[in-house]
Amino acid sequence: MQNVTLNNGVEMPIVGFGVYQIPPEETEQAVSEALAAGYRLLDTAASYGNEEAVGRAIKNSGIPREELFVTTKLYVQDAPAQENTKRAFETSLARLGLDYVDLYLMHQPYGDVYAQWRAIEDLNRDGHAKAIGVANFYPDRLLDLVINNDVTPAVNQIETHPFFQRADYQELMREYGVQLQAWGGFAQGKNGLFTNPVLSKIAQTHGKSVGQVVLRWAIQRGVASIPKSVRPERMAENLDVFDFDLTDAEMASIAALDTGATLFFDHHDTEIVKWLSARRLDG
Ligand code: NAP
Repeated sequence: MQNVTLNNGVEMPIVGFGVYQIPPEETEQAVSEALAAGYRLLDTAASYGNEEAVGRAIKNSGIPREELFVTTKLYVQDAPAQENTKRAFETSLARLGLDYVDLYLMHQPYGDVYAQWRAIEDLNRDGHAKAIGVANFYPDRLLDLVINNDVTPAVNQIETHPFFQRADYQELMREYGVQLQAWGGFAQGKNGLFTNPVLSKIAQTHGKSVGQVVLRWAIQRGVASIPKSVRPERMAENLDVFDFDLTDAEMASIAALDTGATLFFDHHDTEIVKWLSARRLDG
């Protein structure tokens, strides 16, 4: 597995396993299969409702803790957000059955972001979160957070796929030492991603699948990925992406697929702000 080195020296696998939308009752099996397939980075969140199942799979795997990279995420907290962030983190840690996480992300750029970030910085300082970062932060929000706080997020996990590539944003993040980690790296199959003619042709050339081409494209851009699958054959396929290279011409033809627009949510859209901010988690 290839790693990326985060801005505080922590090593993170460039491909991991995401568990969004895997029902809690199916998550333990999926994560166990993913670990058996060779994944060492697991990406969950308090809001996915499956941290306990992830924790059980980790425990039952017998894999030494230091060989794993576990990410979870903080959902938007009510006031006092600093105190509540620490409580939410403790709850996540207890659900996972761990005494630290490798990466703790602020899931949404909403609520009292500063208070939440100060608490997350403390968790980083005391060693409970080896690296810290954010998700779904657009450039203005990210720069504000970076410039006006002590610890620069190590990661920004954002929607990134061939139809929404974020190349300029990646440049800006690179300038500030923030690693781009793609969510929805396959666009959840939207827009005909798995049958796209450009991607299919490249896949055929290399004797690989479209999914593998998309992951390879991300790797060659220095973008980290966390593909989700509940099927063991796809889990294995999505890890088998280190034995071929896309040419500059192939990279350029994929670059031309960018529409510059989200296929999911625009975090600046007031309806999205209302929807995501209305939600609260138990515990
Ligand atoms: P995704 O990885 O883009 O797509 C997953 C879909 O692709 C599933 O329907 C899966 O179906 C299918 N698939 C996987 N591998 C395939 C392959 N090789 N060939 C064909 N189909 C394949 O979507 P995602 O789950 O939204 O994103 C990945 C991870 O990012 C999540 O699991 C989560 O950890 C994280 N995420 C974070 C945020 C955030 O706000 N921070 C938001 C969304 C997601 P099967 O399962 O049936 O194989």
